[in-house]
Amino acid sequence: MVSIPTTPPSCSVPNDVHRDGLPLIHGENLSRSFQAKEPVVAVNGLTFGIAEAQVTAIIGESGSGKSTMLRLIYGLLEPDEGEVRYRGWRVPNPREKLIPGHDAMRMVSQGFDDLNTYANVWDNVASQLPNTDLAVKFSRTEATLHRLRIAHLTKQRIADLSGGEKQRVAIARALVREPEVLLMDEPFNQVDASFRETLQRDIRHIVDETGLTVVLVSHDPAEVLSMADQLIVLRHGHLVAADEPALLYRQPPDSYTARLLAKSNILTNAEASALGIITDATTVIVHPEWLSLEESPHASFHVVDIQFKGFYQVVAVQDTSLSLQVIVSSVTDLRKGMRVSVRIKRFHTNDAS
Ligand code: ADP
Ligand code: MG
Repeated sequence: MVSIPTTPPSCSVPNDVHRDGLPLIHGENLSRSFQAKEPVVAVNGLTFGIAEAQVTAIIGESGSGKSTMLRLIYGLLEPDEGEVRYRGWRVPNPREKLIPGHDAMRMVSQGFDDLNTYANVWDNVASQLPNTDLAVKFSRTEATLHRLRIAHLTKQRIADLSGGEKQRVAIARALVREPEVLLMDEPFNQVDASFRETLQRDIRHIVDETGLTVVLVSHDPAEVLSMADQLIVLRHGHLVAADEPALLYRQPPDSYTARLLAKSNILTNAEASALGIITDATTVIVHPEWLSLEESPHASFHVVDIQFKGFYQVVAVQDTSLSLQVIVSSVTDLRKGMRVSVRIKRFHTNDAS
């Protein structure tokens, strides 16, 4: 799609000059520190692009700068260095805009602080729209409640809803004004595991149907692997990788990303070599499902723990120096203490690891 930006949008910064050829959201060399007991660099030199009508997930361990990055994108925080651009125009920072937050975006924050607990679902959502056209207000509220599958809860008070239902109301409230971008910080934290997947699928549908752009933060990548088109991996405030989930999963660029996405075993060259993998690489990444076990009375490894997960089990094995996590089918008959031989079926190496 070619956009011809002649005049700045309503949400703009005086004297800003449009930059062509950028993705929908573009961050360049973004840094932001906080003054706590000691100064903390929350994000450090981030350069990234976020494409339109896709789901982008920002992932990383706790404290890696995910929420800070999301707030910088929205314009809730002022960067110390660098800038964020939306459709080529600089996102105003809180000093430059009376009500902070870019007009084309809406954010669903962690927790449900924005919801009015004692009002009902309908009022929480409808209150986001002006009274200038009551028919439009009614029809948009109704459509949004249907889209989030909470139309049957219209008359219920927020206080009486489950975590998953509250999260749907929070999202409906953000979407009713038809933003172009929805930002979500750990949106599935308060949602029961059994409802999480349907909520993820519903958000995915909305993106596919409406062209909404979603940027979400997660510390649990397993939950977003299936719904994200792109992942941005943060570590200690640095961007360490940005790519499609399947690619990052199969070929993690470093051990941190491998651990985050796959809970991988990270082996030294010597450890790998003891398991029959001869390579020049200093580090060998082996996902738990890339290993297999076989009962073998004289083998050096033994089973120390088995976590039953239904159709698979996560088995911890160790020898005198090395512990490994292995995913095997539940039909495999393993017991604690059993001697097993370990075979690497597949591995990945990275000189940068
Ligand atoms: P994440 O969302 O990945 O857990 P954050 O972006 O919240 O990480 O925080 C990154 C780092 O910045 C952390 O060390 C955090 O303690 C610090 N930080 C974030 N916000 C503030 C703040 N308002 N004041 C002081 N330190 C902060
Ligand atoms: Mg956070």
